[in-house]
Amino acid sequence: MMGFVETVGNLVELLLSDKKTKIINLIVAYRNHRLCVFLFPRWTRLPINYTEHFQDKDMTIKPGSSEMAGLVITVDRDVFEFSDDKNVREALDYVSSSEEDLKFVDEYLKYKRIKDKRENFNLKFPFLPEKVDTLWKRGIKNGFVREECLKGIETKSYEDGLIEVQYNGRRKSIVSFSRVEKRKKGEEKCPYCSYEKGREDYPWNDYIISANPYPYYDHHIVIVNEKHIYQFIDKNEIRVMVEFVLNAPEYMVVYNGPPGTTILSHMHFQAGIHSLPVERAKTKVLSGDENLTVSKLLNFPTRGFVVEKILV
Ligand SMILES: [Zn+2]
Repeated sequence: MMGFVETVGNLVELLLSDKKTKIINLIVAYRNHRLCVFLFPRWTRLPINYTEHFQDKDMTIKPGSSEMAGLVITVDRDVFEFSDDKNVREALDYVSSSEEDLKFVDEYLKYKRIKDKRENFNLKFPFLPEKVDTLWKRGIKNGFVREECLKGIETKSYEDGLIEVQYNGRRKSIVSFSRVEKRKKGEEKCPYCSYEKGREDYPWNDYIISANPYPYYDHHIVIVNEKHIYQFIDKNEIRVMVEFVLNAPEYMVVYNGPPGTTILSHMHFQAGIHSLPVERAKTKVLSGDENLTVSKLLNFPTRGFVVEKILV
C-alpha cells in the first residue's frame, strides 16, 4: 500500500514533526502524464542577508512557494537590484532546511520501500478550466483583478534559468511586516470571509475558487476552504491539490505552510498557469519503482524533494 497521495502525505507528516523542517511549501503539477509534487522543507521564513543589508524588515524577498521554486518576485527596485544570483542563492540556502537537518528523511527513504498502487482520483470536473477562465476574465473586466500586476514586469535570469528574478513595480499591494504581525494576533479581518466588491466565487470540492485580486501568475486564483479553518496540510488536502491539476492540467497548485506571509487563519491554496524554474532542476532518485519515485533536488538553490507518478 503506497501510491502518490500516501507517499507525499507520509513525507509531509515526517517533515512537520521536526522543528528544523516543519515549514513547508508544496507545488503540485501535472505535466506530460507525470503527476508531480515539489516539496520544500524550511526552518525559517526570512533570509538574513536581505534584512542585514537593508536594515528594514520589509526590504527583503519573502520566500513562498514561487521563491523556493526559483522564481523571486519583488515589488521594490532596490531589492530587485540587490537580488543577483549570489544573494538569491544565499537567501534561499539560508531559509531551506540543511542537508544535515534532512538526514532523517534520507534514512526514512532508505528503509521505506516506496511503491506505486492504483489510485482513484475524482476526474468529474472537466469544465473546471472553463469555469476558472470565466471567473478570471470577469474579474479583469470588472476591475476586481488588478491586471496591471501582470504588466511591465522586468526579469533577470541566472544559472540557465534556474533562478529568475522579477521586478513587479505595479503590484502595489505588499504584505508588510506590521500587517503580518496583525494577522498573527488575529487583528486583521479575514479577507476570504468578508465580502469584497467584484469578487465572484465558484464552489468546488469543499472549496471555493475565486480570482486573486493581485495576481503574479496568469489565471492566478485562490482555492479557499468552505470553512474558516487554520492553514494545514494532510493526505486529504494533498488529494484536493492533485484532483485540481488532473481536472485542470495547465495549472499548478501551491500550498504555503505556516508560519508565513500568507493568510494563515483560513485554509487555502493558490493556483495559476505558470512553469517554475524548479521544473528544470536536476534530481536524484532516492526511492521508488518504475511508476512512482521520490527524488531530491540537485544543485538547486533550495533543498527539496520531488515525488513523481506516471499516469497512463
Ligand atoms: Zn475566513
